[in-house]
Amino acid sequence: MARLSLRGIKKRFRTTDVLHGIDLEIGDREFVVFVGPSGCGKSTLLRLIAGLDPISEGSFFLNGQQMNEVPPSRRGIAMVFQSYALYPHMDVYENMAFGARLMGLSRAEVEARIAEAARMLRLEEYLKRKPRELSGGQRQRVAIARALVRKPEVFLLDEPLSNLDAALRSDVRLEIARLHRQIGGTMIYVTHDQVEAMTLADRIVVMNLGRIEQVGTPRELYETPANTFVATFIGSPK
Ligand code: ADP
Ligand code: MG
Repeated sequence: MARLSLRGIKKRFRTTDVLHGIDLEIGDREFVVFVGPSGCGKSTLLRLIAGLDPISEGSFFLNGQQMNEVPPSRRGIAMVFQSYALYPHMDVYENMAFGARLMGLSRAEVEARIAEAARMLRLEEYLKRKPRELSGGQRQRVAIARALVRKPEVFLLDEPLSNLDAALRSDVRLEIARLHRQIGGTMIYVTHDQVEAMTLADRIVVMNLGRIEQVGTPRELYETPANTFVATFIGSPK
């Protein structure tokens, strides 16, 4: 059974149709990367999966259970944003503890999970710092660690590297790949960067104008792009 099923997902804002029916099955432990030009609906789709916005039509299943009406905190899904979205007045520890406490975990459990996440993301030395006292790469590692503390079954990452400079970008990219190898789980990662997609993905989903153009392994898309749009986007010679 698929970990996650998207069936006919549509999203309409007032009179604008942004997603026109997204169908996809995503496996346990799979690393799926959504690529596509700015405005094609990638962030919107992640927000629907996270429960931050209601689905207009269609259904979304996690482990076979329909999730449309389940509130974000009960979905077992954590999201990492491009802008980090850390609380500026809280130190790193408090940032990581906040969501975990909302889940109703005991103090000891929260502490243990933070220690583990801090170790995995190499943040042990920074727990008492405020976000403004960290580099961009460290802030994004805090945002990832904060998601990890919730032990989600599914991680959503929305362009997590795009605010970082080139050197940090490859560091954090490797960190994310390593994290996935260590904890497993399902990763859904959005980017408009072909290199990130080709290096991280088990499967790539190419989107355009609210529709899926093609789904396949990096190699399949490179070698047999379904159309000129995919070929151009992936940078394949065809
Ligand atoms: P991407 O992440 O692929 O760049 P988005 O999902 O952010 O694209 O946006 C897809 C389209 O939906 C864009 O045309 C955007 O303007 C529109 N859109 C996104 N959020 C809203 C909103 N809250 N209200 C109205 N239109 C929106
Ligand atoms: Mg976006």
